[in-house]
Amino acid sequence: MQQDQGKLSVGERLEAVRGEIARAAERAGRSRDSVRLLPVSKTVPASGILAAREAGCRRFGENKVQEALGKAGELDGHGIDWILIGHLQTNKVKDVVTFAAEVQSLDRLKLARELEKRLQRAGRSLDVLVQLNTSGETSKFGLAPEQAVPFFRELRAFDCLRVKGLMTLAIFSSDPDRVRACFRGLREAADRLAGAGLLDPATRALSMGMSGDYPIAIEEGSTEVRIGQALFGPRPLPDSHYWPE
Ligand SMILES: *Cc1c(COP(=O)(O)O)cnc(C)c1O
Repeated sequence: MQQDQGKLSVGERLEAVRGEIARAAERAGRSRDSVRLLPVSKTVPASGILAAREAGCRRFGENKVQEALGKAGELDGHGIDWILIGHLQTNKVKDVVTFAAEVQSLDRLKLARELEKRLQRAGRSLDVLVQLNTSGETSKFGLAPEQAVPFFRELRAFDCLRVKGLMTLAIFSSDPDRVRACFRGLREAADRLAGAGLLDPATRALSMGMSGDYPIAIEEGSTEVRIGQALFGPRPLPDSHYWPE
């Protein structure tokens, strides 16, 4: 699908993805407004990001702190919110609090502590999602789903972290049932959190679904799909950017 899109503009691809999101939402009996699109701009130069900005996008997902920090400087004044979606090392947190609007890859207490410390110093708060490993693959980051409830309990101690929901990456598989099971696992974890009074089911964020699997994610309750290649074209080495550093 993406191979044929080389000559399309970012605006045209955006229209196609928005249409696909609307169709998936309709299949699931959901309103199209209940699914937000997060363009993932890793490896995309400032010009491509600006094209999407002009087409109405204002949040952009990046997975590497240094790359995101550089773009945030370059595109300062364009009203962009930078969302970090990649694995985050604690030694990068001091940079993160200078520019990020949200971190979707919170996956351990040590990182929460470091974020809290730096956010307090900076006098600001941060939206965060907790990343769960719903596929069980050792190559993926995130807490095991059954650790979500105790982890959310611990997070209540951190005043600067506004915990909005959950994020996951599904297994890379040509079997849609295996992919679907990952997304369903995230939604069920969110339901358990709601049952424990730790996450409001009406406003929770479920960040799940990428270029190759977002219609399935929407059918399973995604509230935010993270789309890179379907908007910006194929990356030179796609897989090298899922797990930075
Ligand atoms: C790169 C990336 C995406 C987007 O992947 P595409 O296949 O380009 O849509 C989504 N989520 C994370 C965490 C990523 O690193």
